[in-house]
Amino acid sequence: MGRDKLLSSLRSRISDERVLAAIAAVPRSQFVDPEMASAAYVDMPLRIGGGQTISQPTIVARMCEALQPQPSDRVLDIGTGSGYHAAVLARLCAHVWGIELDPQLAMRAARSLARAGIDNVTVLTGDGSLGVPEQAPFDAINVAATAREEIPPALEAQLAPGGRLVVPVARGRYEHLVLVRREGDEFERRLLERVRFVPLR
Ligand code: SAH
Repeated sequence: MGRDKLLSSLRSRISDERVLAAIAAVPRSQFVDPEMASAAYVDMPLRIGGGQTISQPTIVARMCEALQPQPSDRVLDIGTGSGYHAAVLARLCAHVWGIELDPQLAMRAARSLARAGIDNVTVLTGDGSLGVPEQAPFDAINVAATAREEIPPALEAQLAPGGRLVVPVARGRYEHLVLVRREGDEFERRLLERVRFVPLR
């Protein structure tokens, strides 16, 4: 499956043109292992080493659509993995801080982003469940690993007024994306579709 085919299949589910353009512009093949490059434009998660996976393009697009990143926004990406999702977000906002627990993945993500010519992502190594207080507040926070039962309180606290947070949350057997919007000191939380991510450690 090529890039055009992926785009036309995404069009049936994603209506945000900015998000579609961002997906079209980012070479996913540069964020997967070279031996998997031929599968890069299949709408599937793929292995990226360290037991982790790069998210499925549809899910990346859905999460970007939910987050509504604006051109002047400062965005935090938690569980940066291969750097692909951060690369898509980077096309939609001013700057992305990506945080990844696995130092080797973080190093590779930084390298892939540089190779793809994306210069508005800062990759950090560490525990993203604590957010990145030094850079807070963020206009949008994207979490690509599943929180158990609770949305990590540090993340909601690091949202700017009007800020959005999208995070997979597991309750019982099921995981759903939760979209949080901060208005003043109020948090509006909305359940979106069912998903499957690796656990947030
Ligand atoms: N967004 C990535 C895919 C993420 S897979 C991409 O586009 O490729 C989930 C990632 O979350 C894994 O790389 C895992 O190492 C990372 N992770 C899990 N718990 C974490 C934590 N507490 N802080 C930061 N990263 C974490």
